[in-house]
Amino acid sequence: MISIGLRWWLWGDFTGGDSGSGPGCQIWRVCKEPVLEKPFARLKGACLCGRINFEVSDAFEYAANCHCSQCRKATGAAFKPFVAIPREKFVLKDWPDDCFEFGTRIEHDLRCRNCGSLIYSRVRDGEYLHIPLGVLTDTPSLKPDKHIFVGSKADWHDILDDLPQHEEF
Ligand SMILES: [Zn+2]
Ligand SMILES: [Zn+2]
Repeated sequence: MISIGLRWWLWGDFTGGDSGSGPGCQIWRVCKEPVLEKPFARLKGACLCGRINFEVSDAFEYAANCHCSQCRKATGAAFKPFVAIPREKFVLKDWPDDCFEFGTRIEHDLRCRNCGSLIYSRVRDGEYLHIPLGVLTDTPSLKPDKHIFVGSKADWHDILDDLPQHEEF
């Protein structure tokens, strides 16, 4: 959980800290939005080996457990729990020289080249990031409230909770 004493951040705080671009990484620069309507807590996340560290505003717009076959392959799990956020609210620290993009330049999965952790999936014409909850170190205020793409769920997995189930998105 976020400690009580954690400073609240405005996105303007980030504008001074532009990182350079790493080879092979088509990452956007830090958002230049001057002011948001309200400040959000800043959450930390990291890959398994710790080379990739990121911060993201706790301003997630939706969250779900995705049962599609791509998410199963990408995670090796029955489904992928994720939170979604507009891409400009995500900031990479410790610029990853060895990040790896799988997919197209617009839509792809970003992984650590060293340990393979999935950091995010860039989706919806590149405008949104779906961040797998497992790479967040801090706890977001939003958690998955539905199952999506249940129509392609694995036969060997049973959904045991009462959350709404959607055939697709
Ligand atoms: Zn790593
Ligand atoms: Zn999926």
